[in-house]
Amino acid sequence: MLPKFIDTHCHFDPEDVASDLIQEATAARVGVLAVGGNAINNQTAQASGVPFACGYDWSCTGASIQLTLHPQMVAVGELGFDFHRGYSLEIEADQRERFALQAEFARRAELPIIVHTREADEVTLSALREADLPKTGVIHSFTGDREIARRLLNLGYFISFSGIVTFRNADLLRETARYVPDDRILIETDAPYLAPVPFRGRRNRPAYVRETAQFVAALRGMTVEAFAQLTNENTIRCFGKQAVWETL
Ligand SMILES: [Zn+2]
Repeated sequence: MLPKFIDTHCHFDPEDVASDLIQEATAARVGVLAVGGNAINNQTAQASGVPFACGYDWSCTGASIQLTLHPQMVAVGELGFDFHRGYSLEIEADQRERFALQAEFARRAELPIIVHTREADEVTLSALREADLPKTGVIHSFTGDREIARRLLNLGYFISFSGIVTFRNADLLRETARYVPDDRILIETDAPYLAPVPFRGRRNRPAYVRETAQFVAALRGMTVEAFAQLTNENTIRCFGKQAVWETL
C-alpha cells in the first residue's frame, strides 16, 4: 500500500467542490489540512469537514478580525507578511498590527500559527521573536535560503515545502530542503497554486502533494515510506490534536 501523506496547506475556493478534492486525495492516500486566510477561504476551510485553520493574511485590509474556536480548528492562519506588492512603513505597521492580534488569539487558544512570508524575512523574524508564542507553528511554502531557515528553526518553527522545490530554477531551495532537520520538515501543496512538476502550470490539488513528497524524500536520500512517517509525526507535533489527524 502507498504510504500516506498529509497536505498541510491547501485552500478551497468557492468554485472548488471541496468534497471531490478531498475524496480524490483520500483515494491517493493523502490527508488534508484546509487553510483560510481571508473571509471566503476561512468559510470554505471550516465547511470542508477536514482539520482546518482560519486567519487573516496580509491581503486583508481593514478587516475586523473575527476568529472563533472549533474542535477541528488546528491552527491560526495563514497570517504573516508580504511586501511583494510594495513596502512602506505604513504597510508594515498595518501587517504587524494584524499579525499581533492573531498571535494573541493563538496564544490564548493554545494553537500554533501558519505563517506566510514573502520578501519580508527580517520583519517576519522580528514579529515571531516578539510574539514569542509557546506553541510555535510552521513557515509555509518556504522559499528562503539556509540562513533564514536556520534562524526560523532556532525560534522553534517547522518549515514546510511546496511544489516550488520541484521547479527547475529552485537549486537554492533544494539545498534548504536538504538542510532542515528530520524533526522540523513538513510538506504541502498550497493548492490551488504552485502545482509541482510534472503538473506545473495546472491547477494544483491536494493529491499532488505525493509528487512533492517523493521529490523531497529523494533529495534527502530517504525512502518514501520513511519520509511519510517522519512528516506525519511532525504534522501531529506541530499542530497537536492527534485525534483529529487520526480521522484522516
Ligand atoms: Zn496559502
